[in-house]
Amino acid sequence: MTKTKAFAPAKINLCLHVTGQRADGYHLLDSLVAFAEVGDHLTLTRSEVMQLQVTGPMAQGVPTDGRNLCWKAAKAFGQPAAITLDKHLPAAAGIGGGSSDAAAVLRGMSDLYGTPFGGEALTLGADVPVCMAARAARMEGIGEVLTPLALPRLPAVLVNPRVEVSTPDVFRALASKTNPALEPLPADGADVIAWLRDQRNDLQPPAVALQPVIGDVLQALSACEGTFLARMSGSGATCFAIMASDEAAARAATALGQKHPNWWIAATALS
Ligand code: ATP
Repeated sequence: MTKTKAFAPAKINLCLHVTGQRADGYHLLDSLVAFAEVGDHLTLTRSEVMQLQVTGPMAQGVPTDGRNLCWKAAKAFGQPAAITLDKHLPAAAGIGGGSSDAAAVLRGMSDLYGTPFGGEALTLGADVPVCMAARAARMEGIGEVLTPLALPRLPAVLVNPRVEVSTPDVFRALASKTNPALEPLPADGADVIAWLRDQRNDLQPPAVALQPVIGDVLQALSACEGTFLARMSGSGATCFAIMASDEAAARAATALGQKHPNWWIAATALS
């Protein structure tokens, strides 16, 4: 194969509990992660030298050299490629844009060269292992302990108020780093949304304190007709709402877009 395509879906932390910190500084997490139908689109072509082009509505400011996680992933795979990254997800937004891109590159390189990735996805970032399968999973440890979970398809709206939140700043502002783990996962057919309401994102209060506009986003999402649950993903600033239907998600996205033309908004579904 000389050319292939790969999709890098947005990663959403439906809940995220910070349960501890290791002696080396890494935080221990317990998170239920899902993936959206919106994401970045990549094209990979066999090449003698590494090349990276970033295009699309969210390309601005994304590095096009060795700092880009796509580049790092290709290097970790051990083969060069010409990569086009069509960027649709806002960067530094808590939805794992870079991590999902890196995982997509590793999948694409495996297709291209017919060999699986033999390295450690975790070395590219805590969220890269979960992004490899891009299927809902419970993520524990520092991102390496994964338990797949079948989730129903959840209509959703994603909103990013176009402010960047520094992940280290959010962790520094976190009141406690030893919070309770997730409650036992819902059994097949159980009410996932009721279960989610009892969980949290421990990073949400410090992120809202650092960037109060995140509180405005959560309020606006909660006030939409058909919202079941509104919460922040990762260390922010992107928030999601789980909606009653695809129609409710589309209506909420349109209404929010009219009121807040500067916000990045996507009606999608999570699974
Ligand atoms: P997470 O949810 O895993 O915390 P994030 O969504 O907050 O991740 P990214 O979108 O991965 O963060 O971007 C973080 C930084 O990484 C950006 O500021 C950008 O400079 C750099 N970066 C490197 N590679 C990429 C990429 N492929 N896409 C976006 N940003 C990238």
